[in-house]
Amino acid sequence: MDTLTDEQRKKFDESYGQRRHELPVCPRCGNKNDVVPAVRGRPTRELALYADEGHVKLSGCTEGYQGWCKKCQHFI
Ligand SMILES: [Zn+2]
Repeated sequence: MDTLTDEQRKKFDESYGQRRHELPVCPRCGNKNDVVPAVRGRPTRELALYADEGHVKLSGCTEGYQGWCKKCQHFI
């Protein structure tokens, strides 16, 4: 099983830090505690692993979303 190194995770944390700061509030549960950035397009292997850890949500190649609420399981 592949896992991210701490260095790779740190790099992603830094590159998504700003996005995380600007995430919308979830309209269903009314807060952003469980909202993570949605990432559009084909992910790299490392990004897929980062998404597997729950830090971001891959939205595929179709529509772009700002975020994903982990609690309500839907895109925002
Ligand atoms: Zn929600």
